[in-house]
Order: sequence, then C-alpha cells, then structure tokens
Amino acid sequence: MKNQYGKIISLVKQHEKWFSESLPLVASENVASRTVRNVLTSDLGHRYAEGWPGERVYAGCKFIDQIELEAMSLAKTLFKAEFADVRPVSGACANLAVYSTLSDPGDTMMALSIPNGGHISAGKKEFSGTAGLVHGLDIEYFVFDKENMNIDIDETKKKLKAVQSSGKKLKIVMFGGSLFLFPHPVRELADAVLEVGAVPCYDAAHVAGLIAGGQFQDPLGEGAHVMSFSTHKTLFGPQGGTIVCKAQYGEAMKKSVFPGTSSNHHLHSVAAKALMFSEFLKFGKGYARDVIRNAQVLAETLAEKGVSVLGESHGYTKSHQVAIDVTKYGDGGIVEKKLEDMNIILNRQLLPGDLQAGRHYTNPGGIRVGVSELTRLGMGKSEMKEVADVLHMALTTDKADLVKKRVRGLRRLHQRVKYSFDNSPAYFYR
Ligand SMILES: *Cc1c(COP(=O)(O)O)cnc(C)c1O
Repeated sequence: MKNQYGKIISLVKQHEKWFSESLPLVASENVASRTVRNVLTSDLGHRYAEGWPGERVYAGCKFIDQIELEAMSLAKTLFKAEFADVRPVSGACANLAVYSTLSDPGDTMMALSIPNGGHISAGKKEFSGTAGLVHGLDIEYFVFDKENMNIDIDETKKKLKAVQSSGKKLKIVMFGGSLFLFPHPVRELADAVLEVGAVPCYDAAHVAGLIAGGQFQDPLGEGAHVMSFSTHKTLFGPQGGTIVCKAQYGEAMKKSVFPGTSSNHHLHSVAAKALMFSEFLKFGKGYARDVIRNAQVLAETLAEKGVSVLGESHGYTKSHQVAIDVTKYGDGGIVEKKLEDMNIILNRQLLPGDLQAGRHYTNPGGIRVGVSELTRLGMGKSEMKEVADVLHMALTTDKADLVKKRVRGLRRLHQRVKYSFDNSPAYFYR
C-alpha cells in the first residue's frame, strides 16, 4: 500500500517537472492560477448542495449559495447573458443538458462533422457521440467550405430547408467546434435557423475565453439563444462547464442540469469558476488579444518556413489555434509522437478531406496547435517566432536532444501564471 502511495505522488511530481520543461501546445488546455487551484482543495470539495441556491436538497449551503450566486452573476456579466448555470461538471455535460432542454430523442441536430472541426459530444450514435448515443439525436452536418475553413452560408441555408422538408424534426443548430480558426456565421444564419423551427445554439468550449475577452465573436449578441462551454480551454480553469442563455430557457435548463444530467455538482469547482471569472473580468481582454496575436505570429512564421498552415486566405487564424497539414512529414499520428518525445506536446487532428483521402483518427493529416497556455505563461510575439522555429526544427530533424534543449531554454523564463492577481508559480507540486 505504502509503495503505491509513494509511487503515485512521485508520478504526479514527474508529470509537473516534465510539463515545466515542455511546450504545452494542446489547444484545449490552459494553466490555472494558484488561487484557483487552492480553492479546489478546500472543504467545498467534500460537500453536497444538489439543486439551486435557495432551493437546495441539503443543509449546510449558506456560504455555498453565495459563492454560486456570485459565479452566476460573473458569468452573466462576462457573456452578456440573461441566464447562467455554472453547475455542469464539463463541457460535454453542459451540451447534454442543452440537448435535453431543447429536444427529444429522435429529433435532429445540425452540427459540424468531426473532420470539419466538430466535437464528439455533438456526434452520431455510430461514433458513440454524446448527442446520438446518450440523447438519441439524429445528426445532420453543416455544409463546410474547406477553402475558407468555415461554414458555407448559402449551402447551409439550402440544407436547413431540405432537412425540414424531409420531415425530420430539426430542433437544434449547434455552431462552434473543436478545430476552430474563424468566427462562425451566426448572424448570417440565425434567422434561417429560427425559420425552420430550430434553436440557434453555440458550443464555445474552445473559444469562451476569446468571447469573454471581446476578441472573437459575441454569439448571444449575434442571434444564438444558448451557449455552452468548457471553463478550462481559453478560459483559465478549473476543468468544468457552464451554460449561458436567454431567460426564456432558464427554468427548463435548470432542470436539465439538475436532476436531469447530474445529482451533486462540484462545489469546489464552482468557487474556482467564480474566481476565474473575476480574473477574466480584469485580465480577459488583454489576454484574449494577446492569444490571438500570438497564434497569428506563430502561423505566419511557420508559413514563412514552408510549413503548410491552413486558412491562408483569411490570415491563418482569428482564434487561439493554428492548424497544420503535416502529410509531408508523415501523418498527424507520427508527428504527435515524435514531437512528444521532444517535449513538444500537441495533438494530431483530422482535417477536412481526410476521410475521403483514406485517413483516420489515428493517422490524420494534421496537427492542431494552441497558444492559450504559452500566452498565459507570459510568452509574446518574439517567443512565438522562436516557438515556430523550434516547431519547424522538430518537424524536419531527428535531433531530439537539440530540440529538447531549445525547448527547455524557451521555458526557463516562463514558469509563472500571468494575467492573474497572484502571479503564482505554474508548478508547485514538484
Ligand atoms: C472540448 C469540447 C467539448 C467538451 O468539453 P469537456 O469540458 O472536455 O467535456 C465540447 N464541445 C467542444 C466543441 C469541445 O471542443
């Protein structure tokens, strides 16, 4: 017993040390401040508070209620929303609550296919996607324009009508996605969605921080009625989910979150979300601006070096992500592994057209790079040029030791969490 105990502690320490000398470029990840991390270890993590503030199923909630009300109020302010539910324990759970509120099993939802940037939580049953497998939704795909790396407005309008006249009950049109370079045409399509009797929704799991910082798009302002998101991708953590929406859906959404898709929610996480939202109110705008600028500098520098960066006709990216076709270096699976061995941590990525080309999730054509975390660790434009240089070197050489040394050098001065009130060390478990 004692042995395993020690071993686990040691593995956690090894993980922290590894990440402290690596380039964390996974686009869905970020790093939380010490204050946010500390509250996750508070007594709140031991308690039950099923239900809504003031309507709890358990005693002992007088402070928890106040914390949760603050968290909701901050979320409403940040996203200019009429209603917020901060209880979902993840982005996928938030989506499931949205599906349950707006549709019944057998209804249809439109979303992006996975190679075009969609997420498995909006996937079909045959792929074990949450929407299909758990809620019984039938999925129709947006028409996607590969050249522009965005939803095709005119073709999607036609498809909305076609789906409606086929007799399917189209209830939800879910904008947003996981490979997400450019704002989606919510303003252009919201009326067409309403005309066919569906609710325009937006999955901001990846871009919630950019939205909260006012630097991407404002889905609710542009016509989406409901927005769900993760709280740890471009937001500052903890891991979790949140739903914001128009007031008219509030009562039903509350029931879908509890008791529909959870019993107790994670109270320590609600406190951490509240702290994170207040960090975001103060630092979010500058952070989101710097993240997008960093992604653009990284993309441009890589393209100058001959790397095939997607989205060229629109300046490569307007988000935290850079998408790269790596087929000339093997495939996304080979590159992901090679770079991981060089302490560069990022993901392989299915790209539009991959399935037609016979590629698959394990050996897709691309990689996806995110700069949210490096930005929060204080890296700016000049560091992005160096990151591009190191990435290019990693793609084109086998000299792992040389790459690792450069990576370690790049990280030496970037060990603290910026855009925070506490300027805390990013790694303190070592
Ligand atoms: C990551 C992601 C989710 C799921 O979020 P979790 O917090 O990991 O459950 C949902 N939708 C999209 C588009 C995502 O990228």
